[in-house]
Parts: sequence; C-alpha cells; structure tokens
Amino acid sequence: MKVALIGVGQAGGKLSQALAEFDHQMGFDAVCGALAVNTARADLQNLDIDTMLIGQDRVKGHGVGGDNELGAQIMQENATEVMDDLGGRLTTEAEAIMIVAGLGGGTGSGGAPMLARELKRIYDIPVYVLGVLPGQDEGGLYQANAGRSLKTAVREADSLLLVDNDAWRASGDSVAAGYERINDAIAQRVGILLAAGEAVEGVGESVVDSSEIINTLRGGGISALGYASAPASEETTANVNTITSVTRSALLTSMSLPDAVAAESALVVIAGDPDRLTRKGVERARRWVEDETGSMEVRGGDFPMDSEKIAALVLVSGVERSSRVDEFMDRADEAASQEANTTDIEEYATDDLDSLI
Ligand code: GDP
Repeated sequence: MKVALIGVGQAGGKLSQALAEFDHQMGFDAVCGALAVNTARADLQNLDIDTMLIGQDRVKGHGVGGDNELGAQIMQENATEVMDDLGGRLTTEAEAIMIVAGLGGGTGSGGAPMLARELKRIYDIPVYVLGVLPGQDEGGLYQANAGRSLKTAVREADSLLLVDNDAWRASGDSVAAGYERINDAIAQRVGILLAAGEAVEGVGESVVDSSEIINTLRGGGISALGYASAPASEETTANVNTITSVTRSALLTSMSLPDAVAAESALVVIAGDPDRLTRKGVERARRWVEDETGSMEVRGGDFPMDSEKIAALVLVSGVERSSRVDEFMDRADEAASQEANTTDIEEYATDDLDSLI
C-alpha cells in the first residue's frame, strides 16, 4: 500500500524517518514521500527527510512545551501550508496518508488529530494516525495529553493505530535505547504491513493487497499490530505448525497495544520464502485469529520474502473496548485531575478529558 507519511512533533519526525529508511533499505517502495512538521526547529535539524517548521510567529521555533492545545491551534493555522507542501508530493500514487505522532507531547499530540481533520476535508483516500502512547513511567502531563489526543484522533482519523511505548521496550533499556528499539520495531512492522499490500505474487494467489488493509481498517476506531517470527523448516508440512505458533505469539504476546485481542476485524499476513509457506497454514492461522478475536471478518494472505524465517503480522481493528485502552484512559483521567489540582488549567478542571478540537 503506497502511503505518504507526515510526522508531527519530535517522535513523529523520528518515526517517519525510521519508516522511510526501512522501506528504502528493503527496497519495498511503499512509502511515497515523508515530511516532518514541527514547531521546534532543533527537532527538525537531525532529520534527513523533508521538514517544515510551523508556528514561528507564535513560538519562534522553540516548540510548544507540553501545550497540546497550542499544538492543535498552530496546526490549524498552518494546515493549508502543510497540505500545499504535501499536495506536491502526493502523487496520484498514494493510497493512504499516515500521520505519525507521539500522543503525549504538545506539537504531535495536538497537531496530529487537527491535521487528520483538515486532510480528510480535502482528500478521499484514508487518513490514518499512527500514535505512540506514553509508557506508564512517564509523567502526568504526558498521560493527560495522550488521553485527550487519543479521544480526538479516534474521532478524526479513519483509524488510530496505537503503539504503547511499554509494549516493545526491553527491560533494562535506557530511555534513549528504548526509543531506538521501539522505533526500529515500529518501522519494521508497519513497514512490512505496507509492503505486504504491494506484493504481486503469493502462494496460491492468496497475496494481500492494499484494499485488504484498507477494508480491515474501514470500521474506524483503534487498531493495533502484532508481529512474531520463527525459523522456517525445509519441509513445508512442518511449517503449518510454525505458521500457527508465530500467529499466536504475534496476537497474544507481541502486540503494539498489549491485550488488544477482542476485535471487530483483523488481517493476518504470513511472510516468508514462498517455497516454505503453505496455503493450509495461512488458512489455519486465519481461522485461529477468528476464534481468538471473536471477529467474523478476518482476512488472511501471504507476503513472499527472501528469508529463512516465517513471520506473522496481525493487524486488529476496532479494539477500543480492550482492557488496555480502558486502563490507559483511567490513567489519563486521573492524571488530568491531578494536573488540574496542581496547575489549575481551567479546561482540565471543568471536564477532565475533553476532546481537543
Ligand atoms: P512533541 O514534539 O511536542 O510532539 O512531543 P514528543 O514527540 O517528544 O512527544 C512526547 C511523547 O512521545 C512522550 O510520550 C515520549 O515518550 C514519546 N517519544 C518521544 N520521542 C520518542 C521516540 O523517538 N520514540 C518513541 N517511541 N516515543 C517517543
């Protein structure tokens, strides 16, 4: 699936760059343009992708701190400029737009949902937000900001693909090493998902295409992505079990939003050497995901890759009722009321988790 990426804020810019680099290194060619937008000049300086500084008249290139309302306002004022810049890059090729942001900060937290709203007014292709949730050890302002941003992004975007910063971090990682690991994991997993929609040949014509990704996400709401891999056997029949077991690991232990299992719809992509994949294995994995998610709408297909391993990628959509989302929203609500007590921000005091826009 060909996508145009727009990173908003610091995390959004870094992640868009990681995604564009992975896509390029792998020769997938699914990313057809990447732009980083920020109110902080310094955060744009280390990026190799195209950049745009916004809100200079307001914050003079210094960023919005943790003020996501200001982030939303600045994006609204500059949306036309961002879209003009994007319009030039959005060749007729792009099948979707993906806005990428950390939901706990200011520029991305406020800017991403606002940009989704503005883009949807103009473009017919789906507008997705890839949003990063703060880890549990991050401060109250991050939690409260992410709560409001999540609520707003769910409403404005065609789907909010969530990655919890606690999901793919290894214990013992420093914050910086943790980010690097998570960013690499996101780039690989989202990168393979997009590339899967680009493949032309598969096993028994079961190759995934872009419309299957788009249809899986069509119901809107929150989505999440799981991934796991294991060595493939030389024998195709032995790989039926491998395919099932990597699919189980992907859904049960390696999700971007842990415990997001109950879903409205899902897509299972099995990647590996076409000579080692089996149609039967893919079908069995697909049926297992149907049972586990309780969804009647589970698509399945394969993605031929030159690899000694077999990997399963599981995209689940409509997971907003999962316990992880509830837990997070409780955390965000509580943080918002504490923020209200300490900083006396009016909006927080009157209605904890108001939508941002
Ligand atoms: P902004 O520039 O104002 O949009 O703020 P940030 O992008 O720094 O957003 C802060 C949130 O993003 C926090 O929850 C951080 O944990 C998270 N974050 C910042 N940098 C990274 C990164 O490189 N990777 C990931 N996964 N999260 C990040």
